[in-house]
Amino acid sequence: MARREVPTRWKSGMIEVAPRVFAYVQAAGMDPAGDTGVANSGLVLGHEGNVLVDALMVPSMTRKLVAAIKKTTEKPIATLINTHHHLDHTGGNRFFRGATRIASEKCREALAPGFPPVPILKSFMPRFAREFGRLEVVLPTVTFKDHLVIHVGDREIQLWHPGFAAHTVGDAVAYLPKERVLFAGDIAFHYVTPLAFQGHVGGWIEAAGRLLEYDADVIVPGHGPIGTKKELASMRDYLVLVRREARTRFDAGMPAEEAARDIKLGVYASWSDAERILPNVMRCYQEWRNELDVPMDLPRMLDGMERLRGRATDHTCL
Ligand SMILES: [Zn+2]
Repeated sequence: MARREVPTRWKSGMIEVAPRVFAYVQAAGMDPAGDTGVANSGLVLGHEGNVLVDALMVPSMTRKLVAAIKKTTEKPIATLINTHHHLDHTGGNRFFRGATRIASEKCREALAPGFPPVPILKSFMPRFAREFGRLEVVLPTVTFKDHLVIHVGDREIQLWHPGFAAHTVGDAVAYLPKERVLFAGDIAFHYVTPLAFQGHVGGWIEAAGRLLEYDADVIVPGHGPIGTKKELASMRDYLVLVRREARTRFDAGMPAEEAARDIKLGVYASWSDAERILPNVMRCYQEWRNELDVPMDLPRMLDGMERLRGRATDHTCL
């Protein structure tokens, strides 16, 4: 029964979630090649200039976003917030060179060395391979440690970084208290399997719990459809399940890939990109071995995910 509650497609485009506050949701859901790289943005209109939350990944995506912004407002983007350093949120920064670009200190630090090498990106996100040669890092211009408030006319946008690693080392959320809207970046994935390949699963569970205490009626996730606390809680429960099940197998000496194959995901098996369980389990193992500083072996991770995706397809056919 629960299975039927999982949407495989959702409303996309520029969607007003509060007066003059928009979520820009990219069409996603159940692409056989996966939806990695297909992220969301947010737009807050002000009388003098607008605030954008995240800039998407490749030029074809950000151009569509820019066109949608132009249909919504004549004013420029004065401020860009990056919720974290990942390419699918910062790749489009170069379209907003005139804007003040804000991120957490840790986000800027993580972005400064540049994007991952193109061959890795191509195998990670083959759908967008053609555009990876044209990427350029454009860094944030203003950084903050834990909190920062942006005043847009009489609106308040509160930025918060948890102070520890969750999805990445430098996650930030943007919260509009009066409008009760939370742009959660990649601390929230709705109906799309969360991906912790550079994260800290324990910290992520903690950060998601903190977001569930916000007075928010609308949560715009980094990936998936606009939702509420229900969707965020569901994602948090996925991470709790994976971490708990991985721990038993870790203690029994089971290798990560075998554990990823062995864990029963229940309703989460129907979320898109379910094979991300492998990096999530690998990251838990690294956490318990105190090896989180060791970068993930990406080629090995991608090979393993491919093998798991094969398994997922077999299951669907049965
Ligand atoms: Zn993302």
